[in-house]
Amino acid sequence: MGSDRKRNDDQYKDQIMLSIHSDEHYMKQALLEANKAFEEGEIPVGAIMICQNRIIARAHNQVEKLNDVTAHAEMLAITAAQNYLGSKYLDECTLYVTLEPCIMCAGALFWSQIKKVIIGARDEMRGFSRAGAPVLHPKTEVSFGLMENDAEILIRNFFKKMRGNNN
Ligand SMILES: [Zn+2]
Repeated sequence: MGSDRKRNDDQYKDQIMLSIHSDEHYMKQALLEANKAFEEGEIPVGAIMICQNRIIARAHNQVEKLNDVTAHAEMLAITAAQNYLGSKYLDECTLYVTLEPCIMCAGALFWSQIKKVIIGARDEMRGFSRAGAPVLHPKTEVSFGLMENDAEILIRNFFKKMRGNNN
């Protein structure tokens, strides 16, 4: 009897852990970062780095603020994660990013040998998958389309707002 109850408790705990550690949960965190970029007048892209079910880095696009074309959310998340881990390799890490990385970021992800990249919306104009040749590391798993509508709406609203300001 006692062991049954323990098993139920464990099951319950597993369910909670699943909801905390779900892809959707992490992508929501990345979208929160993208929202911060939006509010700061930056193209709204956010990224979260996960290692062993823990968020080890959060970042959003800061190109305007830092006057730095390399300050994409992914680059900032990669650097922060490497500092946190004290390692240049992120082969145990997963990146959640709201928009498809550009070729620069995909190149940096290649060098980091990241385990997994989970992407929200596609970027038809600047996304790395337009390059034609594989850019990411062969060991890196990639998936597209997680909560892509939320990411797209944010980007669309951003450019609408920018156009509005120019009038
Ligand atoms: Zn980029």
